[in-house]
Order: sequence, then structure tokens, then C-alpha cells
Amino acid sequence: MTQGYIHSFETFGSVDGPGVRFLIFMQGCPMRCMYCHNPDTWKQNVGDLMDVDSVVNKAIRYKNYWGKEGGVTVSGGEALSQIQFVTELFKALKAKDVNTCLDTSAGPYRDEPEYIEIFDELMKYTDLVLLDIKHSDSKEHKKLTGISNENILACAKHLSDLNKPVWIRHVLVPGITDSEEQLKGVRAIIDTLSNVKKVEVLPYHSLGIHKYESLGIDYKLKDIESPSAKSIEIACKILKAAPRT
Ligand code: SF4
Repeated sequence: MTQGYIHSFETFGSVDGPGVRFLIFMQGCPMRCMYCHNPDTWKQNVGDLMDVDSVVNKAIRYKNYWGKEGGVTVSGGEALSQIQFVTELFKALKAKDVNTCLDTSAGPYRDEPEYIEIFDELMKYTDLVLLDIKHSDSKEHKKLTGISNENILACAKHLSDLNKPVWIRHVLVPGITDSEEQLKGVRAIIDTLSNVKKVEVLPYHSLGIHKYESLGIDYKLKDIESPSAKSIEIACKILKAAPRT
């Protein structure tokens, strides 16, 4: 039985996909986003090691609350870091007619046939992908997250080729992702895709800062405030997006 390292669960999620959802936060992430709220999810191969059946049984208890739209979202950390587990999990959930949503920053995605084969197997059992585009400029993306954006954009294009429904999410950080040029760059990327059902602007906030302190990691954005209502409004207009709080 395939096992995965789980960071935590949230039983009644309402913002990571449609309807009421059971959220599964996977442990491990290869990216190092400066604004990450969950640096405690970064480390690989720690957390609770659970098998697919145990996770399915835990989620399914809440099925009555999901209604027509809700279901299960796998997030992180980075869900694609444990792609085999997530594939088996979604396969088991689809067998029970559960709506499945993958929340990913696509850091581990590789534009290579062997990887795409594995990824497409996961997509067979995935109803919706929430994909972060964190910066339109690859160099700035690397400064912000630790990796360049080519593989992430390749993932976006592949999802479009598959016609897999996607919500694009963009974190608005004053002085880093809120310039008109940058936002227009993200919109230009979205305009190349044919599968985007929704675009969301996620205003930056520093709620995770205490975790950095307790982990002894330097928090690089400590002097940055949350974006103003005006700046969120401008970003939403350029991205043709809705704000998410
Ligand atoms: S991809 Fe997500 S979990 Fe990973 S560092 Fe960035 S914000 Fe944090």
C-alpha cells in the first residue's frame, strides 16, 4: 500500500477549491517562497506516514458536508513531491465518486516524457487544479521562490493541452509582484491558456512569521505590509481576477 508523509488536515476548508472541502496538507516542498506561511511543511520525509486507505477513511467521514460541489483538496507543502501517493489517493477517492482538487505550485513538474506519463496518470483522477503562478519573470521568480518558472509554465501549458480545468492563483506582494508590468506578464501567460476557469489574487500577509521565528529561519519580508485595497483592486482588474482573503 502506497504511503505518504502528511503534514496536517483541515476538515472544513472553504477557499481551496469549490464548496466545502476536506484539505490534506502534504509534507515536503522543493520551493522556498519568501512569503510561505508554512515553512514547517518544507522538510521532506517527516510528518505522519499514512497509507491511502487511512487517509480516504478519514476524509470520507465528512462526505455529507460536501454537497454537490465540495470534496477533497490535496495541498502542501507541495503535493507533487509525493505524486505516487496523491495519484493512488485520488484514484481511491474517484472510486467513491469524490470530487478531487490538486493545489500545486508545480515546482517538481518536469517537461519530460517520463514525468508527463506519471503526471497524466494523476490527471486521470483529478477534477480541478489550483495552480500558482508566482511571478511572470523567470529571474524574479527564482529570487522569490528559489526556482525559475519554466517548468511551472510548462505545467500550465500541458494542463491547457489536456483541457484540465484550472484556477490560477497569484500572491500579491507589495514591491515584488504588484507592478503593472509583472501583473500584465501574468495575464499574458493566462491568455495563452484555454482551460482557466477562475483567476484569484491572494493578498500577501505575514501571518506565518511566528513559524519562522520558532524554526530559526530568517523571514525576508518582515518589512513588507499587506497590499492596500486599491492595489488589490488594480491587480484584480489587470488579471481579470477575484480577490481571495
Ligand atoms: S510552494 Fe507553497 S509550500 Fe512551497 S514554499 Fe512556496 S508557498 Fe510554501
